[in-house]
Amino acid sequence: MTTTVTHRRALIDGQWADGGDGEIEVRSPHSGELVGTVARCTAGQAAQAVAAAARAFPGWRKTPLLDRVALLYKAYELCKERNEAIARQISREMGKTIRESREEMAEYACEHFRRASEDALRYRGQFLPSTQERTNSKRIVVSQEPAGVVAVVTPWNFPVDIAAITICYALAIGDTVVWKPSEYAPLSSAMLADIFLDAGFPPGTLNMVTGGGEAGRAVVAHPDVAAVVFTGSTRTGMEVASATGLKNRVLELGGNGPIIVRRDADLERAADAAVAGCFYLAGQCCTAAERLLVHESVRERFVALLAERAGKLRVGDPLADSTDMGPLCHAGVLERTRQHVDDAVAAGATVVLGGTSRGLYFMPTVLAGVTPDMAIAREETFGPVAPVISVGSDEEAIDLANATGYGLTAAVFTNDLRMAWRYADSLRHGTVLINETTNYWDQLAPFGGRGRSGTGRELSSWMLDALTETKQIVFDIG
Ligand code: NDP
Repeated sequence: MTTTVTHRRALIDGQWADGGDGEIEVRSPHSGELVGTVARCTAGQAAQAVAAAARAFPGWRKTPLLDRVALLYKAYELCKERNEAIARQISREMGKTIRESREEMAEYACEHFRRASEDALRYRGQFLPSTQERTNSKRIVVSQEPAGVVAVVTPWNFPVDIAAITICYALAIGDTVVWKPSEYAPLSSAMLADIFLDAGFPPGTLNMVTGGGEAGRAVVAHPDVAAVVFTGSTRTGMEVASATGLKNRVLELGGNGPIIVRRDADLERAADAAVAGCFYLAGQCCTAAERLLVHESVRERFVALLAERAGKLRVGDPLADSTDMGPLCHAGVLERTRQHVDDAVAAGATVVLGGTSRGLYFMPTVLAGVTPDMAIAREETFGPVAPVISVGSDEEAIDLANATGYGLTAAVFTNDLRMAWRYADSLRHGTVLINETTNYWDQLAPFGGRGRSGTGRELSSWMLDALTETKQIVFDIG
């Protein structure tokens, strides 16, 4: 089947613009076919987009909340109509399975329009008592003001969902936005931008600067940007952290999440969770189970259950309904996965399943005999690999789970409620899951990490902390 080739441009001040630095080709990770092209913007165009957002801010901020919400609801209806088309574009350009793309659109991305509207309508300030000078004559009101221009930089693994969270919440609360999507998923990103434009958001309220890292760098460092919401690797996140200086920020970075399997765990359930944790989206998820810390007494049985399940996954064309796992998104991800597996094997790990690749496809892989010093245990792999590390005690499992400096998501399988609490208290991760896979998150719960996994929280009203400035207004009525 021949793929339709789509040519997309940047969105600056309500107008579609060619890239000042040519175009970027987007190729299917499945077939290598050209899927489309996108404008490669210059730093100058990034500055134009920030200027447009800064011009639009005062008017947008004063637009009645109910009018902003009405536009978001209109956009929600458009998104619902376009879910399937966008899902197909996501699968084409970055390779996740069509079932995963449909989930991204219908369960996550589309609902952000509604959730942001509802949260903005119910976002409350505070009224504080007068305590200074014992006069009882002060009345203090604390309000949350829109921060101004928000820079949003997004990765390719959930190209529409992750962008939609910040964009919807920022626009709902009265901020304006400059968005730099990933160069590996710009076509579905442009379809999200279409929705805002078609719903009638005023020019400059949402700008999309397409291109590579250069464009992202120019946006986050711009002095007229008030807040930065960056999602991507820890390495880029560190650069962004120094470039943003004193701006408000949320950094959603890489993970190295463990699933801990205690000796009392329901092993079948833990093996199911490991499959979802290691192979969902071919392991290319910040919340992926990057390490399986399994008690030595149940390790053999657990590995057998896991390999049996992983061996049944149907790997192939992401657009086929029956496919369970698609290709990796690009050659860099494949190379790192290959390297981590090869290093582990050279250092004594055993390949129980998989370990092979073809094109950008890496087969579901189970490694036994992995040790904590191996790169695969210390660093984020972001590929379909289940590295099993044997542990002898709860203390050892907790130490290893906390040892890599990443702190996004950790999971524990146990039937002992007392131990579950102890683990929850001791694991230094933004989310601790008991008897659930690491790849679980709730749209109304605070999501984010600590340490090398970043700072700040997103989803629901937690998102608004970074998108607003807290102001106190003091009245003296004495
Ligand atoms: P990258 O860090 O490579 O890129 C993320 C975005 O930043 C892209 O749009 C990229 O542009 C842009 N960029 C690159 N360099 C700079 C720079 N110097 N300044 C500003 N922006 C820049 O991450 P990936 O796209 O490869 O995404 C995968 C990573 O994202 C994984 O580590 C994953 O764990 C993490 N992630 C974290 C999540 C979380 O919530 N914690 C959720 C999802 C993913 P371009 O790609 O066009 O070069």
